[in-house]
Amino acid sequence: MINEEKNKNEIVDSICEECKNEEESVKQNLILTGYKVCNSCKISKTIFPI
Ligand SMILES: [Zn+2]
Repeated sequence: MINEEKNKNEIVDSICEECKNEEESVKQNLILTGYKVCNSCKISKTIFPI
């Protein structure tokens, strides 16, 4: 049960808020930039900041 919830949280942490795709880069970008986005959406956000 505990492991199941941990896995679920890890999957949620890896989902891009922009395109909803699961990407390993999302976690890294969340730490580095504070945005929960994948690399391709990070480029979009950099060009068109909201
Ligand atoms: Zn994305």
